[in-house]
Amino acid sequence: MIENLPQITDNGRTVVDIRSMDMEELTAFLTEQGYPKFRAKQMFEWMHEKRCRDFSEMSNLPAAMRSFLEENCSPVSLKLLDRQISKLDGTQKFLFGLPSGNEQDLVESVFMPYRYGNSVCISSQVGCRMGCSFCASTLDGLIRNLAPSEMLEQIYEIERTTGEKISHVVVMGTGEPLDNYDNLVRFLRLLTMPGGMNLSQRNITVSTCGIVPGIRRLAEEDLSVTLALSLHAANDEKRKKIMPVAKRFSISELMEACEYYFDRTGRRITFEYSLIRGVNDSEQDAKELSALAGRVHAHINLIPVNPVPETGYTQPAEQAVEAFKNRLEKQRINVSIRRVMGRDIDGACGQLRHRKISED
Ligand code: SAH
Repeated sequence: MIENLPQITDNGRTVVDIRSMDMEELTAFLTEQGYPKFRAKQMFEWMHEKRCRDFSEMSNLPAAMRSFLEENCSPVSLKLLDRQISKLDGTQKFLFGLPSGNEQDLVESVFMPYRYGNSVCISSQVGCRMGCSFCASTLDGLIRNLAPSEMLEQIYEIERTTGEKISHVVVMGTGEPLDNYDNLVRFLRLLTMPGGMNLSQRNITVSTCGIVPGIRRLAEEDLSVTLALSLHAANDEKRKKIMPVAKRFSISELMEACEYYFDRTGRRITFEYSLIRGVNDSEQDAKELSALAGRVHAHINLIPVNPVPETGYTQPAEQAVEAFKNRLEKQRINVSIRRVMGRDIDGACGQLRHRKISED
């Protein structure tokens, strides 16, 4: 019955991942089972508006339908395992367990209160296989892709736990979103769908290490989400040393893909640039970076690298970061230094999950 439907493993059972379905799929699925169309609308409301995680509580559905759902579908529930709250800035870090029951299946997400609204940073994979040399998320490798429902659930759970409304979502946690392309796009559509979170596409950012075919495909999806490119080095030689993905795609191919993205969506690209002392913080680096940003009208986010013990990298001194920024600004590049949040709570990408796995 379920071959062509989204599936998920829930405590050892492979069942229908009903929370990853859009209205059309849900309607097809339920009418095929002999239920009238309006049941799909009711189900959608229960799952995405009321955020009900227990089929038996869906009180306006017939009892037989509720048992059918319980037997064949997963309600997807992330289990909150750890929550850290920063005393410095109110950032909150969440560690969730997934229904698979596998103990490495851990996912982390971050809640950040800003003046313009509340933002959540979600993970797109369990672990990561991109191997960037400065990043904690990749230290334990890729375990598996996250389903659309599991990406959504991170946001639902954070709204539920904090009691706060989320207005912005960044796909910048553990994992490479364009390495989990189909699930990512499905998630973005569910997130922006009326009747669900109904989030504005403009309030969503997808961050990639630079998978060129994925960037081009995303440009054609008719989704006006912001694309952030993790550049971190402005020439191929340097980039290859810190990011293995640079061996697959050159900076020149990347810039063409960025131009294409901008042309198709009208959305300005952001370059993420983690400043690492003695690696990518020289005057020459700033010069090369300005040229690239100028070419694709990118905004640059400078992030002094978050030290992860395993990487051995350190941040440049504060004045050096300022000097680097000034050099870019002199070339009329739009640049900001990313405020470091959650310093006191395993702030860097993947640190909480990595620590948890290493402790066990
Ligand atoms: N795979 C995606 C999204 C996850 S990483 C990507 O590469 O963009 C999110 C961002 O955090 C990326 O820009 C990544 O390069 C950056 N990052 C990872 N580890 C970091 C660290 N230790 N210090 C600063 N930035 C880091």
